[in-house]
Amino acid sequence: MLDFENFRCSHRSSKWNAPFCGHGMKALLRVSRTKENPGRRFWGCPRYEVKESCGFFDWADVVSEEEDAEKAKLRKKVRSLKLKLKKAEMKMKVAVVVGMIECVLLMLLWFYYSATNRMLCP
Ligand SMILES: [Zn+2]
Repeated sequence: MLDFENFRCSHRSSKWNAPFCGHGMKALLRVSRTKENPGRRFWGCPRYEVKESCGFFDWADVVSEEEDAEKAKLRKKVRSLKLKLKKAEMKMKVAVVVGMIECVLLMLLWFYYSATNRMLCP
C-alpha cells in the first residue's frame, strides 16, 4: 500500500535524491528528448519503459533554480516597490499632518484676530 503522505514529502524535499513515483519506487533520472525541452533532465517512473508507468514526472534540472532566481528577483522588486510605497505613504501622512497643523494654526490665528477685534470694537 502506498503511503501518499510520505510520497509527497520525499517528492518535495529531495531535489537530487530520487523522489518516489506513484508505485512507491525510486524514480529514475532521465533526459528529455522532446522538442520543447531537449536535454532537460527529469525524474520518471522506473516502469516507464515497460509501459506500466504510473505517470510520475518531475523536472530535475537547474531550470528550477533559474526559476527560483527569477522569483527572487521578482520578490526583490516587490520589496523595493513596497518600500517605495511605504515612503510615499509616509510623505503623504506627513503632508496630511502638516496640513492639519496649518489648518489648526490658521483657526487659532482667526480666533485670535476675531477676539482682539472684538476687544478693539466693543
Ligand atoms: Zn511508478
